[in-house]
Amino acid sequence: MRPEVLNPLFAGADSLKGVGPKLEKPLEKLGLSRLRDFAFHLPERFIDRRVVANLDEAAVGENVIVELTPTQYRQSRSGRGPFNVLASDAIGNVVSLTYFGRASYSAKKSLPLNEKRWVAGKLDQYGDMLQIVHPDHVSAEGGVAMGATREPVYALSEGLTQNRLQALIEQALDEAPELPEWIEPGQLDRKQWPAWRDALVLAHQGQHKAARDRLAYDELFASALALMLVKADNKRRKGVPLRGDGGLREKLRLPFELTGAQKRSIGEIEGDLAQGHPMLRLLQGDVGSGKTAVALHAMLVAVESGAQAAMLAPTEILARQHYDTLVEMARGTGIEIAVLTGRDKGKARESILMGLLDGSIDVIVGTHAIFQDSVAYRNLALVVIDEQHRFGVNQRLLLQQKARGTAHCLAMTATPIPRTLTLAQYGEMEVSKLDELPPGRQPIDTRVIANERLGDVVAGLRRHVGEGKQAYWVCPMVREHETEDIAAAEERFDTLRQALGENAVTLVHGQLPADVKDANMARFASGEVAVLVATTVIEVGVNVPNASLMVIEQAERFGLAQLHQLRGRVGRGAEKSVCLLLRGDTLSETGRERLALMRETQDGFRLAEEDLRLRGGGEILGTRQSGEQGFELACPEQISELLETAHDDARLLMDRDGGLTGSRGEAARIALYLFERDYGVQLLRGG
Ligand code: ADP
Ligand code: MG
Repeated sequence: MRPEVLNPLFAGADSLKGVGPKLEKPLEKLGLSRLRDFAFHLPERFIDRRVVANLDEAAVGENVIVELTPTQYRQSRSGRGPFNVLASDAIGNVVSLTYFGRASYSAKKSLPLNEKRWVAGKLDQYGDMLQIVHPDHVSAEGGVAMGATREPVYALSEGLTQNRLQALIEQALDEAPELPEWIEPGQLDRKQWPAWRDALVLAHQGQHKAARDRLAYDELFASALALMLVKADNKRRKGVPLRGDGGLREKLRLPFELTGAQKRSIGEIEGDLAQGHPMLRLLQGDVGSGKTAVALHAMLVAVESGAQAAMLAPTEILARQHYDTLVEMARGTGIEIAVLTGRDKGKARESILMGLLDGSIDVIVGTHAIFQDSVAYRNLALVVIDEQHRFGVNQRLLLQQKARGTAHCLAMTATPIPRTLTLAQYGEMEVSKLDELPPGRQPIDTRVIANERLGDVVAGLRRHVGEGKQAYWVCPMVREHETEDIAAAEERFDTLRQALGENAVTLVHGQLPADVKDANMARFASGEVAVLVATTVIEVGVNVPNASLMVIEQAERFGLAQLHQLRGRVGRGAEKSVCLLLRGDTLSETGRERLALMRETQDGFRLAEEDLRLRGGGEILGTRQSGEQGFELACPEQISELLETAHDDARLLMDRDGGLTGSRGEAARIALYLFERDYGVQLLRGG
């Protein structure tokens, strides 16, 4: 049960004044559904405005507040251009207040001719003319009284204005209660951090590092604590020790020698499985490092012990691909493997359910259809979750809890992440690393090419396709302008179809209906279509060995980890693979460094560490959406700066008060609910 003190923060958005049906969609788009979401919707930046007596005192590009007198309205004859209000300041400088589209209707009302008005906005120059485009505020009351000269700027969605959202957030902050302190007093003093509620208010008022850090720390602390509670709960659970007699593993005839890293990981897993409590282990390994063979070994241990194993994949395509691979690999062992996804209906589904129930199926591969309530197992002892990173931390833990019971759990991810992030996202698990690729892999030839040479690249693609080979073409995707990006991908799709022929190219992006997306993807996977144009949604883990060319447009806008993931789509066959990174002509220092690193190394763990180091400034696609790391507030820099402390503090608390019953423990419970890590609390007896 959620602590009562948090009730005001968990009230719905509709309890705020001014929220009606019209705002429902825009707010939903930003994930603002309860007051806590508004309170945690921190400003992206701040505008500092200066009150000036006249425009001579202001510089172009500066945000100012100035008293102006509108003298004339101007609209182009066609009525299509902008609407301009010419206005003069105290000493006769003329400035054009410029409005586009619908905003012009209200301009006349707020800026009557020959009456003084205070105007706040950014001073620009357009030709010889000074201008302010869409003033932020216009008011008859003036100067500093117009409000703060420092103003927060929030991420918006269509249908929402800055002023509107500000007002809602202010209301939410007014409702925010004082909360008991979960941070050690010593820690607070050392860092000179404000109390929670003060931190929240300060973070909305200005670039207050201590306030922001405290909130980020809170989130990291809650997350670390929850993961520790999961781990502690797991240690308490009774598991079924799986040892196996080695009979099936002996019969396994793989067409290759296992790498040292694979052998080591298998050893670690066998050790866990033999214990009296459920395994909770993460297998980290780059694309192509051979995780499937490791998973198969683990599953064979379960089957040898007379139990069943299940392998969960994030998508239908991946599930079917795994099924094919496992059947092939396990041929000599005689075990029964089946696949089950949402697609399977009727008789086929029934017979699989039967096989799971009576134990005639040893290994099941599927999407989360395999954990529906209607699916019962005779003796499920091991759950393998592939591409674990596709599931957010919360979603994963819920899924895991459901899947697990007393079963052992092996999670696998192809995203090498830095050590600190491993701690943040998988703190409850033991980690095995496949830090060695199977021998004989050809390195991928990575080149950086200027955008202007697009024509050459397309010509190269035509030759490549002419040789019967396949290629990926990735267009970037910026969250804020999703539609524009899709337009860019569709445009590229068209140009490539013109260059290569109608049937040579297919397209995948986030706004296609799922079945169309799957169908297009399948046509590429089967080799029917030579080129796949995609936004970054390319299915992680999809294996198309015949694809040996990867083109990434505007590569400088991707993070290293992302580029590495994308590049990993190729280099999977015997053919030498090529990755072309197209870059724009303005390249920042870090952008340049990122591309150079991509050329220099293919080591995913190294790139992951460098990625974290080079992040910042939000210039990389999608970084602002910190949800990527499973955090709402903590950004990558704060994670690297604060996580270890948060982790240590959570550890200390657990050691002293693992049931969270003392006063700081109680406060920490509140933090768990506040950051929606309540599954942690629920694992406590009587929690
Ligand atoms: P991952 O899931 O880690 O991306 P896979 O398990 O799909 O990688 O393996 C990638 C490819 O490498 C597969 O074709 C697999 O058969 C092959 N492979 C796996 N282990 C080895 C090995 N030790 N030596 C040679 N090839 C291997
Ligand atoms: Mg895989």
